[in-house]
Amino acid sequence: MIKLFNSLTHKLEEFKPIKPAEVGFYICGPTVYDYAHIGNLRSMILGDLIRRVLEYNYFQVKQVMNITDVGHLTSDSDTGSDKMEKNATTAEEVYAVAKKFTKSFLSDLHALNIKSPEVMPKASEHIAEQIEMIQALIKKGFAYESDEAVYFDVSKFTSYNQLTGQNLDEMMLGARQEVVKDPKKKNPIDFVLWFKLVGRYENHILRWDSPWGVGFPGWHIECSAMSSKYLGQPFDIHAGGVDLKFPHHTNEIAQSEAADGSKLANFWMHGEHMLIDNSRMAKSEGNFITLITLIEKGFNPLAFRYLVLTSHYRSKLNFSYDSLIGAQNALNNLYEELSSFDEPKVGCAQFEQDFLEAINNDLNTPKALAIVWDLLKTEEFPTSAKAQTLFKFDEVLGLKLKETWQKTKKIPAEVKKLIIDRETARKAKNFKQSDLLRAKIEKQGYLLEDTIDGYKLKKKF
Ligand SMILES: [Zn+2]
Repeated sequence: MIKLFNSLTHKLEEFKPIKPAEVGFYICGPTVYDYAHIGNLRSMILGDLIRRVLEYNYFQVKQVMNITDVGHLTSDSDTGSDKMEKNATTAEEVYAVAKKFTKSFLSDLHALNIKSPEVMPKASEHIAEQIEMIQALIKKGFAYESDEAVYFDVSKFTSYNQLTGQNLDEMMLGARQEVVKDPKKKNPIDFVLWFKLVGRYENHILRWDSPWGVGFPGWHIECSAMSSKYLGQPFDIHAGGVDLKFPHHTNEIAQSEAADGSKLANFWMHGEHMLIDNSRMAKSEGNFITLITLIEKGFNPLAFRYLVLTSHYRSKLNFSYDSLIGAQNALNNLYEELSSFDEPKVGCAQFEQDFLEAINNDLNTPKALAIVWDLLKTEEFPTSAKAQTLFKFDEVLGLKLKETWQKTKKIPAEVKKLIIDRETARKAKNFKQSDLLRAKIEKQGYLLEDTIDGYKLKKKF
């Protein structure tokens, strides 16, 4: 049984899929106007973890992750410029920016051993679907048109506060008034479904024809249109960073549920922030760290993955280089220990049971990692059993344990020869020569340790 914390109901619930054969899973993807920062990537690791845990429990997963290449403004309250268009003057330039940063995002996912979602739709390629949904909303009385835009009428959707749990009247009052006021906007909290090319958006580069004239979609509508296209409605799980709860996910729910009349997703999962020196990571804060920066500093990207796994996804994780060094050392120790292990055979059932319980309890990865270390330490099982079980755990952890172990098994001929020579010297009780050879082996990147019944060879990491 998998228990997940559902942000929609604010409690832990047993996960049951809608269709037994396939779990439909949507995660909000990047706005490809810049490099992703490691806080964004923490959310992507959460998405991968959800997927891997489901697969570990024998579910088949269909994962959809959108790529936002239009409509995401610099402000949440439908004002500011389009993030995609900040440094561009032509559509070609906008698409070139999108292409460049999509590529870099995908390479981050690859480096972090994040499995590719089955579908990665682009907002700009799903304009027709978005227009169709807006039309449905107008028809059902949930949306209205002004001279500047088409808005969603929040006052018509009574469960608008489902995710935030806030009082609806307070949400209405708390909504920021836009700098440029649209006299025909009914409620300050109403959000844009479609921007018309008037006034402040006259020069918007990406533009499409619509029943409301030439314009471009609001940011939230793409996720509603694309999730329903690829997963149907309702689907099983919708995930994203906690910063997306409001307004993005709140608006997604409002649009999709108003347009379709059914629930959008059964489970909503939100990953907490990653902090740097206890403050929020954002470009505007000047503490924007990318994965490339970490790689350039000599870190294994999987050390970052390991660091993310050391904290529960619903806890804030304070990033520091010291904590990353700690994670890198732990991962290297794990690899080093593993490198002396024999070929995997029958695993350790009790450890596997404990691990399954940990991950099925709302993805308790800190506990899962503690089980990994307990397993490494125990003398109860031969290394062949430990290897078998660790490789199984790695289907969830994604730390490339098997690949790394396989590589360490390819011991260079030169090292093999040194080992034989050393064994000969040791048996002849020529300890000086034996120590000298051991130092030579270490120079080649291997650690030779004597044991009661012979020796243990580890690859140095
Ligand atoms: Zn989204």
